[in-house]
Amino acid sequence: MRNKANAGEAQDLFVFDAHCDTATVLADKAWGFRRSPAHIDLGKARKGGLKAQVFAVWVDPLFAPHRALKRGLEVLQALETKVFAPGLAVKVVSVAGMDQAVAAGRLAAWVFLEGGHALENSLEVLAVFRSLGVRGMTLTHGRNNDWADSSTDVPRLRGLSALGKRIVREMERTGMAIDVSHVSDATTRAVLRSVNAPLLASHSNARSLCDVPRNLPDDLVRAIAAGGGFIGVNFHPAFIRRRVYEQIEENFARHAREIKARSRGKEDDPKLLSDLEWEYFQKAVQGNNRVFLDDLIDHVVHIAALGGIGCVGLGSDFDGIASTPADLRNAAHYPALAAGLRRRGFRAGEVRRVCGLNLRHFLRRVARAGNGR
Ligand SMILES: [Zn+2]
Repeated sequence: MRNKANAGEAQDLFVFDAHCDTATVLADKAWGFRRSPAHIDLGKARKGGLKAQVFAVWVDPLFAPHRALKRGLEVLQALETKVFAPGLAVKVVSVAGMDQAVAAGRLAAWVFLEGGHALENSLEVLAVFRSLGVRGMTLTHGRNNDWADSSTDVPRLRGLSALGKRIVREMERTGMAIDVSHVSDATTRAVLRSVNAPLLASHSNARSLCDVPRNLPDDLVRAIAAGGGFIGVNFHPAFIRRRVYEQIEENFARHAREIKARSRGKEDDPKLLSDLEWEYFQKAVQGNNRVFLDDLIDHVVHIAALGGIGCVGLGSDFDGIASTPADLRNAAHYPALAAGLRRRGFRAGEVRRVCGLNLRHFLRRVARAGNGR
């Protein structure tokens, strides 16, 4: 009886998540999308009520400056080959297209680019990605690029360069979501000044609850919300509780010499260095303090209190994170998140908004802000 009720509940949910790195996993492993050990596959999506997903085409900054575009195209091609060609999800480029796919019982897939360095400083390359169906871009990843600063690098521009302004304005004009997750506070403020379009922070939490550079300070939560923007909460324990972040940093530092030794002479192989970093990152999260669904919901509550219920939703970062809250291990567990929100006093309509409708409405606002459709 109970299982039946849960299955029905998942069918009713409209979960729409703003960020995952499943494309990277598909590019780098022999796994398919139907069923795999990844956080997200078609079976888990069905079970969890995940109806629409933004797939990030992540390019490790290690591939910059000259191999970033190629890497981006290869990761994008993994989605084409393993997800879209076999018809396991429908690639969508508009809210209407998404609604249609969902109504037909298909998983709707948006494609965003993660890391503006993949443009290799070319507005033409941005246009090419758009014609390939990319409808959003995270401006930086963990390192600065030539036109925007990252939150986890030494500040250089403290804003946007002239090219950076041109890029975000072109994204606004063509209705692409401008994603400031990973971007430094000063650069995010410069983006807010440069465009009228609502901004996306696809996978970031609240810094006042977990003081790490990747999270948003309260004033930016308010400013993004005031502009009609959207913030997706990140499921990575290190961005939920600072003690986990500290522990992972400590563990990582312990391996520093080993990493250096193993990467010596391989400086010219970004793929090997990227894999090596991920291997130690996974090691570093082992045995960390546990974090639970309720700790994540604290961030939803805080962001909603600052910016209103309409600005907050999900940005799981599934398949880009080496650990998750103990009771939210993969995409099949979204009904537990919905139930958790209900337990914390969110009304049924508010749960629907946080789980997916807010992101849907945000993307409609982005399309309206563009005039080059
Ligand atoms: Zn990311």
